[in-house]
Amino acid sequence: MTALTHLENLAAALAPQAAPFAFGDVVEAHASWSRWCVRCGRCPSAEQLFPFVRGIYDPPPRFTCRDCGSVTEIIWPTEDMARGVERLLMMRPDPSTRSWFPGETLHDLLIENAAHGVFDHLPDEPVPGATMFAVDDFAIRVDNLPRRLPVAPQQPRPEIGS
Ligand SMILES: [Zn+2]
Repeated sequence: MTALTHLENLAAALAPQAAPFAFGDVVEAHASWSRWCVRCGRCPSAEQLFPFVRGIYDPPPRFTCRDCGSVTEIIWPTEDMARGVERLLMMRPDPSTRSWFPGETLHDLLIENAAHGVFDHLPDEPVPGATMFAVDDFAIRVDNLPRRLPVAPQQPRPEIGS
């Protein structure tokens, strides 16, 4: 055995075996503009994914990047959290504001909704004093709101020059 062959054999023996996930290729899912997205663990690309299939929470555990081919393992929020994120974001009339990132709680999204007037045009309570909507940080606890919230009536646009 030549010295070079010995070194090649040694290098092959010590080389990391092909593994489905390299260290660092684990990424948390987030919501952006009404979509669930995951960034590639290796390149700047991202992918839209669908954690709900016909209403069943069955998030994909990994995805293969279309741009670089690497496999990224995905950390998804819990089902309660994902349902809460979708419910609160879909209350927002402007799709460009429907984003959520790991670390934000459902309280955070609820407060943002209230601050931007999402609840300003609710119908009267069917039962005075009844709880219409309540969340904890990671789940919706009470939801007696209409599925589609009323939005503010459109204001007439002022004439140009008036
Ligand atoms: Zn990639």
